[in-house]
Amino acid sequence: MLSSSISKKKINLREAMLKVIKENPTIKDRFANAVPEGKIQGWGLPLGSKKRPISGDGFMLTGDAASMIDPFSGEGISNAMYCGMTAANVAMEAIKAGNFKSSFLIQYDEKIYNRLWSELQLSHTMQKLCKYPWLFNFVINKAEKNRTFRETISCMFDDLDLRARFKQPSFYFKLLFNH
Ligand SMILES: Cc1cc2nc3c(=O)[nH]c(=O)nc-3n(C[C@H](O)[C@H](O)[C@H](O)COP(=O)(O)OP(=O)(O)OC[C@H]3O[C@@H](n4cnc5c(N)ncnc54)[C@H](O)[C@@H]3O)c2cc1C
Repeated sequence: MLSSSISKKKINLREAMLKVIKENPTIKDRFANAVPEGKIQGWGLPLGSKKRPISGDGFMLTGDAASMIDPFSGEGISNAMYCGMTAANVAMEAIKAGNFKSSFLIQYDEKIYNRLWSELQLSHTMQKLCKYPWLFNFVINKAEKNRTFRETISCMFDDLDLRARFKQPSFYFKLLFNH
């Protein structure tokens, strides 16, 4: 959940998780005899929902330090690895040129955002769609009934062009009339 929603709705995440484990009809049986291994811990995830400067005089930010976590899936490992690889290449160029100024390192921002920004933006749009549970429930209910659609949704996690369809009203319109 977004920190803003947690404070606005005054939700205690630890209690919410325990309640789901205890009461949710599709989950509770799986945990009926479970015993906690330790205390519940959590951590805020720096989501890539905004385009921020990620370099300056003498530095480049990578991964979580650059807020590169996918706002929909919460995954940050692959983006962090891509940042690391790109930062290493730009650092090599900076050493060759003997130039560590922000005006030189800005190419790092350009390379990262050229590669990752459209994906992050799309995931941010999908995260905002979660505000409408009826819409999500509608999509998931359709997926439960239709194997092809179910497979399409699975592919959406890897395929950006396919994922972009979530943003189009025609996607929901077609779903409405497709049984
Ligand atoms: C509970 C949880 C579950 C997650 N699940 C997933 C998942 O399933 N899939 C996914 O893709 N992503 C997941 N993420 C996100 C993912 O873990 C991060 O996006 C990713 O690890 C970021 O990599 P990073 O290299 O930027 O930072 P980190 O992996 O945090 O690495 C930073 C390192 O720097 C070290 N460090 C910090 N300060 C100093 C210092 N002063 N001196 C020296 N070292 C220092 C830290 O000890 C750490 O080892 C999850 C995150 C959390 C919290």
